[in-house]
Amino acid sequence: MGQQADRATMLDRAAGGGRLTPEEALDLYRFAPLHALGAAADAARRRRYAGVEHIATYIIERNINYTNACVTACKFCAFYAPPKSDKVWTRDLDDILRRCAETVELGGTQIMFQGGHHPDYGVEYYERHFRAIKDAFPQLVIHSLGASEVDHMARISGVSAEEAISRIHAAGLDSFAGAGAELLPARPRQAIAPLKESGERWLEIMETAHRLGVESTSTMLMGTGETNAERIEHLRMIRDSQDRTGGFRAFIPYLYQPQNNHLRGRTQATIFEYLRMLAVARLFLDNVAHIQGSWLTTGKEAGQLSLHYGADDLGSVMLEENVVSSAGAKHRSNRMELLHLIRAAGRVPAQRATTYEHLVVHDDPANDPVDDRVVSHLSSTAIEGGTAHPELTVLNS
Ligand code: SF4
Repeated sequence: MGQQADRATMLDRAAGGGRLTPEEALDLYRFAPLHALGAAADAARRRRYAGVEHIATYIIERNINYTNACVTACKFCAFYAPPKSDKVWTRDLDDILRRCAETVELGGTQIMFQGGHHPDYGVEYYERHFRAIKDAFPQLVIHSLGASEVDHMARISGVSAEEAISRIHAAGLDSFAGAGAELLPARPRQAIAPLKESGERWLEIMETAHRLGVESTSTMLMGTGETNAERIEHLRMIRDSQDRTGGFRAFIPYLYQPQNNHLRGRTQATIFEYLRMLAVARLFLDNVAHIQGSWLTTGKEAGQLSLHYGADDLGSVMLEENVVSSAGAKHRSNRMELLHLIRAAGRVPAQRATTYEHLVVHDDPANDPVDDRVVSHLSSTAIEGGTAHPELTVLNS
């Protein structure tokens, strides 16, 4: 058999549920024809979601950034400020609770509490905030933080990661957002985030969380100079971890944004590389249920295309976002537009919960929600002039 015939056989096997080796995944990632890769990933998605394969989901959420002070100084990050810098800011609890109230008012179901590694913020800080949020808004799901924050807060408080996770879970954290995965293999991780915990430690903390009943998503930052083999190694590390715990609900690759950071955009992944990664992830990560397409870092057309390359979810209407926007992500959307994008891709949109249950299936456009305040970046410190909607008392800074 020729090499392309071998690849067609591999794609058929993976589409049918057979497991790919990392070597096969790398070969397909590098050489399989793009459309064949997408078709196999789409077949795998349809097989997994037989009966609801016509649906693509989205969520309404808000990122709430509590501080930009950070001791970790990742080279791709445009959000943080060194703790002694005059650019440091923190949000007080009242401010955070008002942002939660706006989220509820707009039909948001989830918040991502997201910030830097503040030198003074230990477990107690997160316990206090999560308790206050849950007391005021028990309906909001706190899907936040990741292994890096756990590693940092545990160190500040002088406790184990296990104790830190148990305590913030008891205080209200529902699930981890899987932030900080970046690139898990040692070489690219050291190159862009030398002060972060190792990839092995990141996975160890996530596995501890999964064993304590706190599930998470997993992410991958593409485009900071990693090799194709390192991208596939990242997937292998996640798949092996998932075989041990089963706690990753989703895999979410996204693209490095080039502005205002130390890397200065010298390397970037292309949209084709991104689509190939989504497709290979759908085929290789046979033990991860959901693959999320990113319109925020790739653009709306690529986000729409992602639904044909293995993604079953198109992320969120993010009422507030500052982190990747600080690095130059300029794409904006709203709920009506996301519904349109999903329909134009031949799928039926459904608003989902954090745990991926369908909350509303938008199967009749005549019944579409009409609240035009549900827009991404309704409030964002990372956009010049902000984008506050006039009808809401939205905080701009
Ligand atoms: S990515 Fe997170 S940990 Fe790294 S510098 Fe930015 S805020 Fe700090």
